[in-house]
Amino acid sequence: MKRKKTKGQYRTRTHLIHGNFESKKWDYNHHVNPPMSASAMYRLNSTQRGAQGFVDFASEAIDESTHAPIYIYDRLEEPSRGMLEENLAYAEGGEMCLTFATGMAAISAIAGLLCGQGDEIIAHQVTYGCTYSLFSSRMPRFGINTHWIDLNDEAALKAAITPQTRMLYFETPINPTLTLIDIAAMRRLVDDANQNRPEEQHIKIVVDNTFATPYCQRPIELGADFSVMSLTKGISGFGADMGGAVVGPRAYYNRLLLYRKDFGGVLNPRSAWNFLVYGLPSLATRFANQIKTAHHVAKFLREHPKVDRVVYPGFEDHPQHDVARKQMTNYDGNFAPGNMIYFTLKDAEMDGKQHPKVERLIDYLADSAYCITLAVSLGYMKTLVENAYSMTHAALPEDEKRKMGMEPGGIRLSIGLEDWHDISEDLRDALEQV
Ligand SMILES: *Cc1c(COP(=O)(O)O)cnc(C)c1O
Repeated sequence: MKRKKTKGQYRTRTHLIHGNFESKKWDYNHHVNPPMSASAMYRLNSTQRGAQGFVDFASEAIDESTHAPIYIYDRLEEPSRGMLEENLAYAEGGEMCLTFATGMAAISAIAGLLCGQGDEIIAHQVTYGCTYSLFSSRMPRFGINTHWIDLNDEAALKAAITPQTRMLYFETPINPTLTLIDIAAMRRLVDDANQNRPEEQHIKIVVDNTFATPYCQRPIELGADFSVMSLTKGISGFGADMGGAVVGPRAYYNRLLLYRKDFGGVLNPRSAWNFLVYGLPSLATRFANQIKTAHHVAKFLREHPKVDRVVYPGFEDHPQHDVARKQMTNYDGNFAPGNMIYFTLKDAEMDGKQHPKVERLIDYLADSAYCITLAVSLGYMKTLVENAYSMTHAALPEDEKRKMGMEPGGIRLSIGLEDWHDISEDLRDALEQV
């Protein structure tokens, strides 16, 4: 088949649907959908081919973009996953991608790859709950310690950098408060710190891009070294699979491949196929719609007399709206502030550890709303609500959460694909109960 144009002549949104038609991992001439592979081991028709497979695996001599791999065993390399990785790298604007069983497997892999005994991580003080417990409870057992600071405090960041620092880690927008971190500003600070260090001691910037998805933000283009994400969320969109990915420079591909082989957290090929066939191709369409809906719902909430504060990066009054405009853009360069909303209620005082008004609101939604579901996760085509303080961020210490600006009464909404009137009306009915 002779194509008249190269893939580079097509736009990203089209590419997410049609994939990498120059891939050596799939016969693009005869399939419309890529085949779903389900084979733990692969037939090797000679010992010579078997031996060659092991020589080629994670070899610097192989250019995997032009070389048809010799598959051996699912945990090493596998075609459905390989095709997904090519497309995810493209979507994120990175050179390479490796996928993992979950978002946490991807985050622990990049931390384990960049840091060894005696090294240090600097992380923003609010992260996803399991990232917090990974860095604060597990990593210290391997001699890797984390400084938790407010990355929007430049002096604090400069003071936290030591000769042992190897990784600067953060999410933006931050879960759940939707505070932003200026990726380009972090790049400038890290470049300064790296100036007098040998390459192997450079601090690497790792951004968790789960909240925004590559449709709304591409951290590597903005200055990050690596982008990590949970595929379970916005990339999946259909809430049926778990997965994670690391995207970054080509030079790290083989090291990360070997790390993944030994730690073993590979993505199931059937989940990879779902992300490849359903998730990525529908990403742009889903998010373009979810952003519009989020705007309407955020406006509805802001105008409601019982609502105190609505945080949405798309609002002009978001305290970091300028940062949002600069770094949250879609593939056409248009502002893409995401589908997440955070809000608090007026006069929602604490009663001991309870927050009666917020609990009433969420319980009413859980019990009576048709189109808003009480559940963790996000980026799903169905609208989800949760109380981050007591649920996804339960792992963070109580007093720390307060210091970090997380309110016990904060409500997180992940806007789905429903009609925005219906979402607003379910919220209106619930607000009448408090
Ligand atoms: C869900 C999530 C993760 C972890 O992903 P899993 O696929 O659940 O392991 C990491 N970071 C953020 C911001 C998340 O929302």
